[in-house]
Amino acid sequence: MNAPQPGQIPCPSCSRPLALPVTAVLRGEPIVCAGCGLELTTQREASREALAALDRWHRDTAAARTAAVSGQPPEQAPRPSRRARRPRR
Ligand SMILES: [Zn+2]
Repeated sequence: MNAPQPGQIPCPSCSRPLALPVTAVLRGEPIVCAGCGLELTTQREASREALAALDRWHRDTAAARTAAVSGQPPEQAPRPSRRARRPRR
């Protein structure tokens, strides 16, 4: 099995898993397949809603990502004294 990892998509040409850098996608930069050289570009107009959702998600998770990189908890995030319970749907 050659299943792509989260954050990756299979190359439409050679099926090789391609890393999908969110920042590059948001900037509209092409993603080049290392296997076959195919250039994937985002059709920004056609994908406007998806990009907006991705942008929101990217910003919402920015603090968590910074924390993961630095190994430190996000500074401006308030620390809850206890975990908020989320009701299951
Ligand atoms: Zn490819």
